[in-house]
Amino acid sequence: MTLIALAAFADNYIWMLHDGARALVVDPGDAAPVRAALDAMNLRLAGILVTHHHADHTGGVDALRAVLDGPVYGPATEHIPTPFVPLRGGDRIELLGLGFEVTDVPGHTAGHIAYRELGNETDPLLFCGDTLFSAGCGRLFEGTPAQMAASLAALATLPEATRVCCTHEYTLSNLRFAAAVEPANAAVAAHQAHCTALREAGSPTLPSTLALERRINPFLRCSEPAVIAAARREGAANDEPVAVFAALREWKNRFR
Ligand SMILES: [Zn+2]
Ligand SMILES: [Zn+2]
Repeated sequence: MTLIALAAFADNYIWMLHDGARALVVDPGDAAPVRAALDAMNLRLAGILVTHHHADHTGGVDALRAVLDGPVYGPATEHIPTPFVPLRGGDRIELLGLGFEVTDVPGHTAGHIAYRELGNETDPLLFCGDTLFSAGCGRLFEGTPAQMAASLAALATLPEATRVCCTHEYTLSNLRFAAAVEPANAAVAAHQAHCTALREAGSPTLPSTLALERRINPFLRCSEPAVIAAARREGAANDEPVAVFAALREWKNRFR
């Protein structure tokens, strides 16, 4: 299986997974880069996975139906282009011979879902849309801090080697925030240098891994003393992870 990040819009990635003959794509906000990749590699489109209803994740779905030989999967409780197979937490699907399990991850949107691969691979895939970003997390458009904190906690229980496939190239700006939260975190500084070089070379900083995110992502580190202390300075009501998370998210919203 080959994993490719197709660039779309200013900073989106449409993840494509293919076996040399058939492909699936995740959150095709734009059909054009998908069609170009299918044509260039002579692949058939065997399925589409959608994580949530925002247009930059769904805008290309209908235009791809002409070349789609398989299902569109999406969150049961959100309005995405129909027809689609509605999924909710705990559901399992199979595509390209791979199994995926659905996790409910409300917060960015109310019905956001994530797809994690169930195979025996040591580095399973996680397609998490706009919930978990490298060194950051999605904005709370429809959910509460408690919901998002629980969603991130659920993703954080996945294996360390999980490849985190998020939709946006926000890593460098997220790392600037992570460095403000934890100035003494050497892993953040090292990853900033690494990702700066990647971007200068025109390469994505993704996928990340869960092992790395546990070291650099302040939103997964809400129980770390340094993160708690920073959140308290920014107004966290107490040391509990949800209060710490809420203060970090508010701080990030106004961080420049
Ligand atoms: Zn979104
Ligand atoms: Zn998005």
